[in-house]
Amino acid sequence: MTIETPTSSNFIRQIITEDVAAGKHGSRVITRFPPEPNGYLHLGHAKSICLNFGVARDFGGVCHLRFDDTNPGKEDIEYVEAIKDDVRWLGFEWDELRHASDYFEVFYLCGQKLIRDGKAFVCDLSAEQQREYRGTLTEPGRNSPWRDRSVTENLDLFTRMRAGEFADGTRTLRAKIDMGSGNINLRDPTLYRIRKVSHQNTGDAWPIYPMYDFAHSISDAVEGITHSLCTLEFEDHRPLYDWCIREVDLSNHPELVQPLIDAGLHTVVSTPQQIEFSRGNLNYTVMSKRKLIALVQDGLVDGWDDPRMPTLSGARRRGYPPAAIRAFWQRVGVSKQISVIDYSVLEGCVREELDAAAPRRFAVLDPLRLVITNLPDDHAEALTFPNHPKNESFGTRNVAFGRELWIERDDFMEVPPKGFHRLVPGGEVRLRGAGIVKCSDVQKDAEGNLIEVRCTLDPDSRQGMAGADRKVKGTIHWVSARDAAAATVHLYDRLFDTADPDDETDGKTYRDHLNPDSRRTVRGYVEAGLAEIGAEQPVQFERLGYFVADRIEHAPGRPVFNRVVTLRDSYVKPAR
Ligand code: ATP
Ligand code: MG
Repeated sequence: MTIETPTSSNFIRQIITEDVAAGKHGSRVITRFPPEPNGYLHLGHAKSICLNFGVARDFGGVCHLRFDDTNPGKEDIEYVEAIKDDVRWLGFEWDELRHASDYFEVFYLCGQKLIRDGKAFVCDLSAEQQREYRGTLTEPGRNSPWRDRSVTENLDLFTRMRAGEFADGTRTLRAKIDMGSGNINLRDPTLYRIRKVSHQNTGDAWPIYPMYDFAHSISDAVEGITHSLCTLEFEDHRPLYDWCIREVDLSNHPELVQPLIDAGLHTVVSTPQQIEFSRGNLNYTVMSKRKLIALVQDGLVDGWDDPRMPTLSGARRRGYPPAAIRAFWQRVGVSKQISVIDYSVLEGCVREELDAAAPRRFAVLDPLRLVITNLPDDHAEALTFPNHPKNESFGTRNVAFGRELWIERDDFMEVPPKGFHRLVPGGEVRLRGAGIVKCSDVQKDAEGNLIEVRCTLDPDSRQGMAGADRKVKGTIHWVSARDAAAATVHLYDRLFDTADPDDETDGKTYRDHLNPDSRRTVRGYVEAGLAEIGAEQPVQFERLGYFVADRIEHAPGRPVFNRVVTLRDSYVKPAR
């Protein structure tokens, strides 16, 4: 069972509603999610995924998953597979799976067309010279000395670039726009560079690779994308995006997409419209791919799916339900406002989802033996408990009860502080569902450590007896020592001990802010039935929090649980 927050409108949905009403893009809304396969997806990407796939779904359109794989070297097939898994896990399915590298031939034809139209030229300036010529925010740039090459010479050089005749970095293909433009992106931007690097999809077929703005805009147009939703840092690139679409003019030049039709790719060209929205940011974490890669490569975490990572595979392993992540971004909304969302908002969504979805169980994570001296050694009883306090459809289960139990060590105190309402010497407490016990004495080992509390059970306080409703202040949970299964439990906390790990103004980097207590592993005891629970199944351990059977480590008979989140927002900044 999941609670899906109803979709609320936002400025992008309003634009699309108007476009659809005006028949601006024909009959169907087409969006895309365009990750570069150079790392795993993170919680911020989920915002874009929910937006793109959500819009397509709600407007009866389609959404493509497109790998923006124009940057060989940093990209990897491992990432491609992980991204596909993560998008599906989040609850979305693409209509078409594409790769920008599927369009390499088209980009090349488009480059030739721009040359023929006098809109592009081959430039021999080095990268450093190009930077010099580009000017600054306050000064215009200067024309490249190669800007006025003839179409014939440009076509010849471009052909030879493609044939691999020139060394890396010696030549580029540049758009001929305006070196005096106030927008630096329009100062004859590079469209193609020479890079003799193998590509994970096309191998060594191409010694030249298109630049992002050129490849991205044409990819959108080739796929018939109607609304190209991207984050705010691309706002200044929009004039170039529009320039590429307009000058390449695919709708009037079907020959440019002929290679795709020949390859059997469904191709309906469009004039896509770019709309920018603000990135999703969360505190207490980092979301730069560069930093996430460093955390993994330097062994500061246990991998991309470490349950403390802000990656989607980390969130999955941690036990965050995908519905909670969707509800979270739904709640945050989509706008152009730059903001950082408090991590507790996400945790709140996780709790809400798990409260509804997780059956209740008993587990003891810091076990202390409790012996009920007035029960016989072989006392065996099955007590029935509801699996969910608010939802009868979860049914009931039997929990074994006996003479020896495990209780939480901190539910007993020899010298209690004021206001402590659980078990104390000579005091009474209710054992959840079993009756009221009174502590008669305690056992200690040679070093004086507490090893056992001994109690008597009030027979009149048991279920169905006259004294069952007798009031005592505290109720604690327990498991039967004879029946419970031993379990490994990872207690996760936030990976960083500071709200803004990216802030380096105090001379410390995100690496200095790793929370040393972000993972504790304990051995505890869980109800016997939990040893057989399926991996990734969520449960609430009563009074302790929400937990999930670990996706990888958990196995039948060898239970391993991760704490997803505590029951309440009790986050206290770790002391350092
Ligand atoms: P980089 O380009 O530096 O590798 P990126 O985070 O932009 O990193 P991409 O793979 O290009 O990674 O992102 C895919 C899509 O996800 C892009 O459309 C991007 O705008 C979007 N996206 C990335 N981070 C966020 C975020 N924090 N919030 C919303 N959308 C995001
Ligand atoms: Mg990007």
